[in-house]
Amino acid sequence: MGKRTTILLVLILALVVAGTVGYLAYMRPSPSYQNTPLVRKIGELELRLASAASSGRVLVRVLGNVTYGNFSTPMWVVTREPKEPVTCRCFLVGSIHGNEPAGVECLVRFVERLAADANLYPDVAFEIVPLANPWGWAHNRRGNGDGYDLNRDFSSFRTQETRLIGGFLKSKRYELAMDLHEDRGATGFYLYQYAEDDPAPAHALIAAQRANGVPIEQNASMVILKTHDGLIRAPMWTLWCVELVRKLSIGNYLRLENAPRVYTFETPSRLDIERRVGMHETALEHLLARE
Ligand SMILES: [Zn+2]
Repeated sequence: MGKRTTILLVLILALVVAGTVGYLAYMRPSPSYQNTPLVRKIGELELRLASAASSGRVLVRVLGNVTYGNFSTPMWVVTREPKEPVTCRCFLVGSIHGNEPAGVECLVRFVERLAADANLYPDVAFEIVPLANPWGWAHNRRGNGDGYDLNRDFSSFRTQETRLIGGFLKSKRYELAMDLHEDRGATGFYLYQYAEDDPAPAHALIAAQRANGVPIEQNASMVILKTHDGLIRAPMWTLWCVELVRKLSIGNYLRLENAPRVYTFETPSRLDIERRVGMHETALEHLLARE
């Protein structure tokens, strides 16, 4: 057997193994929606979004319903077209992990600010999914009602939530996208950037957080990627590897399909919710200010 044939066979074998591992790892969620108590009220968010929409400055639409037994709730997308010509299109998504509530709170407050002030970022168009995992948020669970981690499902789209978001994102182009998370193990703020050469905006954001007295995470890691003073840089080849095992996160997916600059924020769940919402707000404002 020639050397090239051997290399080809090894590559094919590696692909088959990676695909099988990815598939098997995904197969077995634990359905949890029947026995989990409700801890947050979707109706309160609905009222706040309806009130924002009544300003006429933002549009609140329903992408579709997320349903588990008797639990059924809309997934909303909020759009704001600016009054001036658009220089930047921006996508924001919150709480794809339901037990990370600072993201949705930050984004609903942001929608309320856009509703109150047409001069806020007057040349930026926004599309915002404030709550990507309604069942998880209402029940304070990381996964959806079937126990799936939505943030590993942007290759296969096996869940109702990712199909709604993926359908919305199809063929969209943005200049900037931000994905708001929290981390129970973290002691400080950190963020990911995906396949982006320039770390300067992220470093400047870390400096701004530090100036606000925010602790900066030094020890978080994601498989082989590690924080360097609060920043995890995911090169393009790592995204291709994640795609190979069929586990794209929404941040990975956005970078591959929709936007050249994508950031994921992580706030430490152990701190007070108001502080964490404030960290997300600082991150959002800081990166938007560069547009
Ligand atoms: Zn998360």
